[in-house]
Amino acid sequence: MKLPDYLKCVEVKELLLKMGIEKIPELKPVEFIREIVKVQKVEVENPQLSFGKRLELEAVPLNQAQVTIGKDGTIEVNGLKACAYIKKQRQGIDHYRKTSEYRFHLCNCHTIEQMISGGRLSRYVSTTRSDGVFPVIDQSGYKVRELELKLELCTNCKRILADRGMLPSPFSLKEFFKRFQPEIPKTILKTEQVITSEAYSPDHQEVATRYKEAEKYKCQICRVDCSSSKGCLHLHHVDGNGQNNHHSNLRVLCADCHSKQFMHTHMEPNPEFAKQISLIKKMRKQQGIVGLL
Ligand SMILES: [Zn+2]
Ligand SMILES: [Zn+2]
Ligand SMILES: [Zn+2]
Repeated sequence: MKLPDYLKCVEVKELLLKMGIEKIPELKPVEFIREIVKVQKVEVENPQLSFGKRLELEAVPLNQAQVTIGKDGTIEVNGLKACAYIKKQRQGIDHYRKTSEYRFHLCNCHTIEQMISGGRLSRYVSTTRSDGVFPVIDQSGYKVRELELKLELCTNCKRILADRGMLPSPFSLKEFFKRFQPEIPKTILKTEQVITSEAYSPDHQEVATRYKEAEKYKCQICRVDCSSSKGCLHLHHVDGNGQNNHHSNLRVLCADCHSKQFMHTHMEPNPEFAKQISLIKKMRKQQGIVGLL
């Protein structure tokens, strides 16, 4: 004869609980925290600063930057006034005097206009280096080499600057940048999403759902799995006070175990609960949870 597994018997379990031999485990606290997403302006370092530094030290290819022509007709690279010139030079280099016949430009002169409209931005580089000496790649000989050469301002550019009253006399790049270079703001305001979290008091429905979820939809007493009929699983308040949602006052119980709690005799005659209780009994059988009745 095969004896029933008493550890899987509901009535035995209830008896052990009543005798105090077994205790219903206390529910683990569930935190009710919600994320608050706020959009706000945050002061951050201006990325232009680092670009400005780079432009001061090296020759930045024009096709790697945003090239515009300012209202005053000058070349602006990412918003900064800059010299534009051809870096790879094939002729006109005077190695003894360290000069070149190539010119640098500051304005939208005829040469620059043609360069932009012809899409030859990649031939040109830009810099805000102000000593009049420019890094150049010398391709005039057999050997390609890097040099630093003194270049002169293009004649057309010079005329345009003079017309606009922007040509320092005597001309120097230092003076030109000092007078006409816009100051880069150190910081800018950036729109950022700031996510914070805050504790909140949930409604009863949410408390019930979260605790049932935490218990994986199993009754704490008989262990019947109600995940297929979640309505049969209740959140029981031990002290009878539905407002007291402290986890130590809560039990996740199936309708049948719930109806057997102290002061809960009203549940059984209720047709809705009766339906749930008979469903629980069916589910227990399917799940191998045995009952003596
Ligand atoms: Zn020019
Ligand atoms: Zn139960
Ligand atoms: Zn209850």
